[in-house]
Amino acid sequence: MTTPTQATSSSLAITYGDVVAAHDRIREAAHRTPVLTSRTADAMTGASLFFKAENFQRMGAFKFRGAYNAISQFTAAQRRAGVLAFSSGNHAQAIALSARELGVPAVILMPQDAPQVKVEATRGYGAEVILYDRYTEDREALARRLATERGMTLIPPYDHPHVMAGQGTATKELIEDAGELDILVVCLGGGGLLSGSAVAARALNPNIEIYGVEPEAGNDGQQSFRTGEIVHIDTPRTIADGAQTQHLGNQTFPVIRALVDDILTVTDDELVQAMQFFASRMKIVVEPTGCLAAAAVFQGKIDVRGKRVGILLSGGNVDLARFAKLTLGEVA
Ligand SMILES: *Cc1c(COP(=O)(O)O)cnc(C)c1O
Repeated sequence: MTTPTQATSSSLAITYGDVVAAHDRIREAAHRTPVLTSRTADAMTGASLFFKAENFQRMGAFKFRGAYNAISQFTAAQRRAGVLAFSSGNHAQAIALSARELGVPAVILMPQDAPQVKVEATRGYGAEVILYDRYTEDREALARRLATERGMTLIPPYDHPHVMAGQGTATKELIEDAGELDILVVCLGGGGLLSGSAVAARALNPNIEIYGVEPEAGNDGQQSFRTGEIVHIDTPRTIADGAQTQHLGNQTFPVIRALVDDILTVTDDELVQAMQFFASRMKIVVEPTGCLAAAAVFQGKIDVRGKRVGILLSGGNVDLARFAKLTLGEVA
């Protein structure tokens, strides 16, 4: 277990002060999402669970926080030229909506085979969508070219201090609203949410235990955490599409290594069970990736008995047909 000190914290990409500043910036636009409780879930686990419901965040996921925090710090010249992102998921919609709110033009690069609903949603928020062929074109090279040609600023989905600090505001709110926590459990893709959350949680509750949870099929974060080096993997096959990242970031990883206690994994089946619980017992729609942290707790992978436990529900963007299929118990 690492014991963070002020000295290590100050060499990391963000400080708690950055999270506080991010919170002041996003307050005008982001929802302060509710913290939900469930007697059934508490009885099941023997703990007091506090669910931070970012499925109720604007555009349906916490990613609005980081995107808005990043774009709102653009200079006048950056605002005129616009923001660029590549994503087929929640980051695309977060950038598109934040850019619209802040009056900044946005270009989103999406693979040609991205679900039509996501392309439409992103266009619906006013962004220009440029489709590319993911098998023949290198999206990073394409993004760099566009950034150079049009002078646009690229905002990555997780490996950026303004994104990380923005994501950390969800945990700041959770602890402010729920009170002191013994344990915090957060889903893990590229580590934007976990790193920001860890910085906020360690500052507010220094003795808190912090866990990241990723899909078993893509446990690069766990391998990286345990070996001390960023491990790269092929795109994992999992229903947790928001956590199909191939590696942690150069800026998120050191924060996670310094402040997090362990990284755990859950299977797709365990995610489905959690999704079913949220739908049937708590009457909320949580997307598969959003269930990662809760699934680890429900499956007894963390000793939570008698503890006050914060659980991040990261988003609720799943189309209805898929939601129906998954909650009816089909993993495929
Ligand atoms: C992006 C995303 C994640 C993973 O977040 P990282 O910051 O990449 O770790 C988890 N859940 C949802 C719903 C997401 O959109």
